[in-house]
Amino acid sequence: MKYEAIIGLEVHVELATKTKMYCSCTTEFGGDTNNHCCPVCLGLPGSLPVLNKEAVNYAIKAGLALNCTINKETYMARKNYFYPDCPKNYQITQDETPLCTDGYIEVAGEDGEKKIRIHRIHIEEDTGKGFHRVDGSYYDFNRAGVPLIEIVSSPDMRTPQEAKEYLEKLKAILQYVGVSDCKMEEGSLRCDANVSIRPEGSEEFGVKVEIKNMNSFRAVEKAIEYEIKRQIKAVENGEDIVQETRRWDESRLETVSMRSKEHAHDYRYFPDADIISLSVDDEWINRVKESLPELPEQKKTRYVKELGLPEYDAMILTMSKSLAAFFEACVAEGGNPKEVSNWMMGELLRTLNDKMLEIDDVKFRPADLVKLIELINKGTISGTIAKKVFKEMFETGNNPEKIVEEKGMVQVSDEGAIIEIINKVLDENPQSVIDFKNGKTKAMAL
Ligand SMILES: [Zn+2]
Repeated sequence: MKYEAIIGLEVHVELATKTKMYCSCTTEFGGDTNNHCCPVCLGLPGSLPVLNKEAVNYAIKAGLALNCTINKETYMARKNYFYPDCPKNYQITQDETPLCTDGYIEVAGEDGEKKIRIHRIHIEEDTGKGFHRVDGSYYDFNRAGVPLIEIVSSPDMRTPQEAKEYLEKLKAILQYVGVSDCKMEEGSLRCDANVSIRPEGSEEFGVKVEIKNMNSFRAVEKAIEYEIKRQIKAVENGEDIVQETRRWDESRLETVSMRSKEHAHDYRYFPDADIISLSVDDEWINRVKESLPELPEQKKTRYVKELGLPEYDAMILTMSKSLAAFFEACVAEGGNPKEVSNWMMGELLRTLNDKMLEIDDVKFRPADLVKLIELINKGTISGTIAKKVFKEMFETGNNPEKIVEEKGMVQVSDEGAIIEIINKVLDENPQSVIDFKNGKTKAMAL
């Protein structure tokens, strides 16, 4: 029997506000432990939260960029649970009334463009962080109260690749609008996946399993891939799939059971009497709408229509805000869009990939890449030499003209000069000339 997978993702994103959700403590990453805290984010008795308007602004921005409806009247709720990293013993979040609903992201599915629906986006606050050592457990509350949005997709993805693409698009869009830096390694983007399987053609959903602890997009893809295989194997062996939470074990490359449904929390949600209602009017929404920058899809269309790039180039170059900015800076410096694109999609991205670096790590300026292309077009250097110059540019950040000059890489295209060089070489190697004339063609090798 053939099975299909049903995948939904829950993504937590830390908002890039300067201060926390309900107090004026800094949201800066790192710092000495328990240094970015105050009575409010530590949940001390008598402290009262004050909602950070900028965080709501960012959440609306994210919602609009992800094609959501913004709900004008919502309220904040308490999610009650007891865990040492949650200082108030409840988290202020949104339950029945999320700020944003019914959005979508388009991904390139197997049968062409596909819409992955976004069920809801709600605002909430982050928790503290626990460290477990042999001598005891320690808690750092610097992160407690940092504004978050949780973006919940509908179960619309069918393959691990689609899930990865959804995440990549989501990250690009959130970075474009500037609501988060989306750094998975610093925890400002975290993803949990819900995975189930069903016989192909069936309309019913299977029992879903939640996967946590995936620390990169690649890990998300791998974990989902593993989980689908695990579930199919279990069903084929006549076993039941248990509704549970599983943890991705990166070193063993498998998912491991964490807790079953019997141990699921009952959060006893109720409205938070200290904040309760949040009203967003049309004027506010419109103001945010007008402030939105050009989004990846719009940029892609413009690159194709106005700059004449092929669809594929436009898609790759708009995948990240920084990549698109580098490309546009090259074009602004007078670079031919297709030539710039060829170099960026070829040498540049390949080198970045090989060295596991990001476009922001590139030392040379966009103008230098344009200069390099100019040197080829003018015939000063050949395409092969250009690749060597590029390598040097990448490593040193030096400009191409300087490299070409210093390393004597200039391509000689003056015929007289070339003949002169040939004669000189032949004069200096009389034996090789004789050998060659006697049929030893190997003497001609460089
Ligand atoms: Zn605080």
